[in-house]
Amino acid sequence: MPETCDATTPAIEIRDVVKLYAGSKKAPPKLALEGLSFDVPQGEVFGLLGPNGAGKSTLINIMAGLVNKTSGTIRIWGHDIDKDHRNAKLNIGIVPQEIVFDPFFTPFEVLENQGGMYGVTKALRRSEELLRAVRLEDKRNAYARTLSGGMKRRLLIAKAMVHSPPILVLDEPTAGVDVELRRQLWDLVSDLNAEGVTVVLTTHYLEEAEQLCDRIAIINHGKLIANKPTRELVGMMGEKIVAVTLDRDITNLPHDPRFHKCVKAGERLIEVTYDKAEMTAGQVLALLQDQGFTVQDVSTREADLEDVFVQLTSGEAGAAEAL
Ligand code: ADP
Ligand code: MG
Repeated sequence: MPETCDATTPAIEIRDVVKLYAGSKKAPPKLALEGLSFDVPQGEVFGLLGPNGAGKSTLINIMAGLVNKTSGTIRIWGHDIDKDHRNAKLNIGIVPQEIVFDPFFTPFEVLENQGGMYGVTKALRRSEELLRAVRLEDKRNAYARTLSGGMKRRLLIAKAMVHSPPILVLDEPTAGVDVELRRQLWDLVSDLNAEGVTVVLTTHYLEEAEQLCDRIAIINHGKLIANKPTRELVGMMGEKIVAVTLDRDITNLPHDPRFHKCVKAGERLIEVTYDKAEMTAGQVLALLQDQGFTVQDVSTREADLEDVFVQLTSGEAGAAEAL
């Protein structure tokens, strides 16, 4: 049984993980994870995407030891979270979705206490360095309760890193934060990853996943429906969309068997979706002109992750099989 981690071991190995929340008088039992299996490769920024209620936090809370799984196995840096709990825990830092702090400690104390809890000796503590990394050095001695929401989130990231784990997991790090802080968090994630830390983050901001993640897994209703390098996932559809503004109100729509979709998107605006392997934007425009439409303005865009996401989670038959 390999209990060590070499360069080929996945940073995290998830196998057949099932979570059934027991029901109560008020709520029926809920099958939150239906047998999830996937690997997080070492060194990547790995995005775990899915709509609300998909099971993302359940999975992360199981890794954090906050929720007990019903069945299945998880290995962290090669260590089984049940059989080798101590080593599994030492190799991961987790920032949960909910912010919880003792309001009477200062950021410096929060980090020192956490270091103590992980048995990090005084000589090896990195509290000052971590405060600098999350730009909280000037809040070193302020009470945690006086920090803004964004500062608390950054402090939680520093707290998750006190024992220098090779894996950092962030559950919805940028939910409800402003644009400026989101940028800062993205930079922080990129810096940590550049230093070799494997990062797993959940998000429902597709733009964020597209920008930051090397690989994306999508879960829906507790099931894995995609797991691919980001570029592949985005390019998967191969669709392109041309939006044309006409010189008059639309009374009928253009048609062609190669159009995947053609919709009226405004009084004078038509959007044509087509496969870029089948035709070009120029051909679409020529067809429109042939059919008597006078084009005033044109713009095009590639199908992005949002289109892929909508298609995959809308439950269309065949979409999941294509993966
Ligand atoms: P996500 O983080 O993707 O939004 P969650 O893991 O929080 O999803 O939730 C997955 C499903 O499990 C949801 O249907 C949610 O209502 C349910 N759930 C989460 N926590 C509990 C709990 N403690 N007891 C019962 N059901 C829960
Ligand atoms: Mg969640």
